[in-house]
Amino acid sequence: MILKDRVALITGGGRGIGKEITLVLAKAGADIAICDINKEALDETQKEIESLGRKCLIFEADVTKRDQVDEMISKILDNLKKVDILINNAGITRDGLLVRMSEVDWDAVININLKGVFNCTKAVAKPMMKQRWGRIVNIASIIGITGNAGQANYAASKGGIIAFTKSVAKELASRNINVNAIAPGFIQTAMTKKLPDNYREEMLKMIPLNRFGEPLDVANVALFLVSEPSSYITGHVIQVDGGMVM
Ligand code: NAP
Repeated sequence: MILKDRVALITGGGRGIGKEITLVLAKAGADIAICDINKEALDETQKEIESLGRKCLIFEADVTKRDQVDEMISKILDNLKKVDILINNAGITRDGLLVRMSEVDWDAVININLKGVFNCTKAVAKPMMKQRWGRIVNIASIIGITGNAGQANYAASKGGIIAFTKSVAKELASRNINVNAIAPGFIQTAMTKKLPDNYREEMLKMIPLNRFGEPLDVANVALFLVSEPSSYITGHVIQVDGGMVM
């Protein structure tokens, strides 16, 4: 149990990649707090975590709302006494070419994907600094490295996460808090299942390992980044993309 006695908070942990990370960390021994806006998904995931014998707090909280995030962290500290690990995973897409992109779609993506990461990281930074141990993993995307036509908002948010990761890694390193990012490629979740078949086929041709990624591919790397074997890695971006971008 490499995460025994650790407490992990996963945002957007009700389904998709976040849910898989939640399960993998719980199986490794961590107690869990999950924040999501999808109540049904939260309830379902909580049952699965508790059946593994771990504690699981759920919060129907929106990462863009500073007051909801702060209240969640103080409840985690009250109930589980600490927060050792933060996985900033909640994210959305609102795709469209720049000339047609509405301000609403720009703001929604930047607020959830980037401001949400700021809100949650800021809220855990002090308790982690106090205990002089912490692991923060931000889920970016290869689109934040390469850019993508039709995803200016998403690319800006994910590129922002990468720059944020490196800055905060430098700020918090002296307190034994490691901050890293994962940049997934094409992972099979609800977010990608809604893409048209012909787009998916074109994507597959660009993946040297010749398969789409699974949430577990990302979750295994998250487990590595929050456990002791990675303790000398900070400010790094690990691509989990089947070789799509190299
Ligand atoms: P997903 O299946 O859509 O799951 C995202 C979860 O986050 C959902 O449960 C969603 O709730 C929740 N969420 C949305 N807005 C939120 C908010 N404001 N506050 C709290 N929770 C919120 O997505 P996914 O594919 O697992 O993606 C997870 C992360 O990986 C995202 O950051 C995404 O950008 C990144 N990523 C994914 C891929 C991929 O190929 N799938 C590739 C690169 C990066 P609802 O169910 O209500 O929407």
